Amino acid sequence: MARVAVVTGGTRGIGEAISLALQERGHTVVANYAGNDEKARAFSERTGIATYKWDVGDHEATQEYCDRIAAEVGPIDIVINNAGITRDGVLQRMSFDDWNDVMRINLGGCFNTAKATFAGMRERGWGRIVNIGSINGQAGQYGQVNYAAAKSGIHGFTKALAQEGAKYGVTVNAIAPGYIDTDMVAAVPAPVLEKIVAKIPVGRLGNAYEIARGCAFLCSENAGFVTGSTLSINGGQHMY
Ligand code: NDP
Repeated sequence: MARVAVVTGGTRGIGEAISLALQERGHTVVANYAGNDEKARAFSERTGIATYKWDVGDHEATQEYCDRIAAEVGPIDIVINNAGITRDGVLQRMSFDDWNDVMRINLGGCFNTAKATFAGMRERGWGRIVNIGSINGQAGQYGQVNYAAAKSGIHGFTKALAQEGAKYGVTVNAIAPGYIDTDMVAAVPAPVLEKIVAKIPVGRLGNAYEIARGCAFLCSENAGFVTGSTLSINGGQHMY
């Protein structure tokens, strides 16, 4: 059945691949983004997917835009919390703003979209929320106390909300990607990236579509008994 799906940060990188994977499966996709108008315009022209610009870390704006999407496109049955940023640095050099921005957008964004859409999903008796965590939320990473804490929080958030949705046909799952070839990873200095790739058993970075296909499964009718889980897609870099 075709649903309305909102993908935050859905205009590039992993989010773009998720938007396309859900569109291919017949859903009406809406892609959110933060500020890169040029990329969003090109994405929308290429795919025909509507884009909505707002900051998912802004609680009121998220409520307002989700209401707008529901009115303009239809009730939101699928939410992919993919928008995320990094503000890396060792603790001594990390500012409170670096900490706060990452918590506000990466973790707060999940709370904000859930607050805006979860009640409707419960009432309609069907919903899918997929939160994009990270291998670095599972294992920690030097220079990323903010990012690792936010992503780790996403995994806890997922398990708690899954319990609240389970009786109402609303599943809540997380994906923990390993290192995926996107702009975010392109920002990692080459020598650091070489060392990271050397630790990936499959011997390469992941592709955004490898995350998107896992996400599409979690959003499918077939995944109705999968909730509160974390799907690790990381080339074998972290197993547990
Ligand atoms: P990119 O940096 O390539 O894209 C990020 C997307 O998020 C963009 O669409 C961006 O919009 C959007 N975004 C950023 N901040 C906000 C905000 N405040 N409100 C709304 N949208 C926002 O990221 P990736 O594709 O690499 O990563 C996607 C997700 O996957 C993130 O949550 C990331 O933490 C996670 N992840 C990525 C990994 C990787 O290796 N790439 C590994 C593990 C997890 P705009 O274009 O306007 O800037």
